[in-house]
Amino acid sequence: CGTDDSYEAVLAARRQMYGPNTSLSYEKPIMMVRGQGTYMYDEHGTPYLDCINNVAHVGHGQPEVAAAIGSQLSTINTNSRFLHPDLPRYSSLLLASLNGTTAKDQLLDANGQPLEVVYLVCSGSEANDLALRIAMAARPGQTHVAVMGGAYHGHLSSLIPLSPYKFWGTGGGGKPPHVHVIPCPDTFRGEHLDGRRAGRAAVAAARAAGGRLGAVFVESVLSCGGQVVLPPGYLQGLYAEVRAEGAVVVADEVQCGFGRCGGAWWGFRTQDVRPDIVTMGKPIGNGYPMAALATTRALANAFAASGMEYFNTYGGSTAAVQAGMAVMRVLCRDRLPQQAEQTGAYLLAGLRSLQAAHPSLLGDVRGMGLFLGVEVVRPGEGRRHAPRTARWIKERMRARCVLLSTDGPYDNVVKMKPPMVFGRREADTLLHHLGEVLSTELTPAQLQRLEAEEDQHEAAVLAPRRRQYEENARAMYAAAEGPPAKL
Ligand code: PMP
Repeated sequence: CGTDDSYEAVLAARRQMYGPNTSLSYEKPIMMVRGQGTYMYDEHGTPYLDCINNVAHVGHGQPEVAAAIGSQLSTINTNSRFLHPDLPRYSSLLLASLNGTTAKDQLLDANGQPLEVVYLVCSGSEANDLALRIAMAARPGQTHVAVMGGAYHGHLSSLIPLSPYKFWGTGGGGKPPHVHVIPCPDTFRGEHLDGRRAGRAAVAAARAAGGRLGAVFVESVLSCGGQVVLPPGYLQGLYAEVRAEGAVVVADEVQCGFGRCGGAWWGFRTQDVRPDIVTMGKPIGNGYPMAALATTRALANAFAASGMEYFNTYGGSTAAVQAGMAVMRVLCRDRLPQQAEQTGAYLLAGLRSLQAAHPSLLGDVRGMGLFLGVEVVRPGEGRRHAPRTARWIKERMRARCVLLSTDGPYDNVVKMKPPMVFGRREADTLLHHLGEVLSTELTPAQLQRLEAEEDQHEAAVLAPRRRQYEENARAMYAAAEGPPAKL
């Protein structure tokens, strides 16, 4: 093995030996050697304000989580074939949080069964793959699945076909015939099938393709779809329509769950619905690889009915359970979901002030809690997507040691999803630098260069992608028996 830990040697070795299509962030990648709270530090000790790590949920290097995992590893770490009191203890914590305890939560029982059964797995992809298996086992013959435009549900071979983000993205092979893509409500440009019509369109599209809808996967706040907050009532309508067809509703809370969107804790609760299956990942173990699925007793029984056992070597291991418990403990004790709601509102207001100063560039500012996005558009008419400009902003912010990402089907949404310990001081730092980048670095000459890049990118990358989304939207509007409404 090499002994050279210099930046250049590590970068060269990584490029030589690590999978060539695994991505590295930024034109000049950063070597991170330490993290604390909402900061990461490179090999020179330079701090970077982390606005992108939604996995280090309760903070980088969180001592209680580290201690809980470490102490369990040195005591016993084994699989879920053995009893341990903390496995049901953690499951009951998770279920209590998902089901809620208010009077309103009880009313939701009319629109969905309580979630009573937990499976622990190792990644968001595993959770979604298991959700698909459960739905397919419970609804034999209903093999069609609906997803939202721009959605990403995981990297497994069962999930790329459920992820327009991938199958209509670079290198993607297109939409499989049994998958139906619900056009994402475009809350910015105004086009929108309400939830009921979206649900009816998915049911009708499956029938027109000779099948029947068995499952719908939907994030309660759309992440890779571009940080889209669904219009009020959207999920109630969608859930009701697809349930009338017998389809299972899966809420993917891998990104938006665990208080990221505020005091409601779960994205689906902001829409007053109760899913049949909830999948969770990323923040759940603060970086310890774990994920979870919660479902109803009826679906768990249907899945078990074939007699095939479910076993997952690391899922539900004693150490994973400790990681999960520690994260829940810190979230509750430090009221981080409530803090995320307050800091998020403050940051959103600051971003809206920046938008007012740069209206031709920052087309839309949206989000909930610490799950925010700024849609970057090209000057002039049409609110055209500006992914190269969004990328440039991200790179300029990186030069100022503030880490942002970009996302959305056209990659023009600057995305913020920092560790939940991100507070007002950090929000001010972010707003200060973003304001400076936009007002001092984005000169008319720079904007002109970016416009030329946008033209090239539009022709090479965006236009074919846009065609696929638009053709699909037309077909789904036809299935919904009419054009979308304006919001
Ligand atoms: N669902 C969503 C919404 C995600 O964002 C991701 C990961 N980005 C996944 C599922 C898959 O999770 P994992 O990478 O842990 O397999």
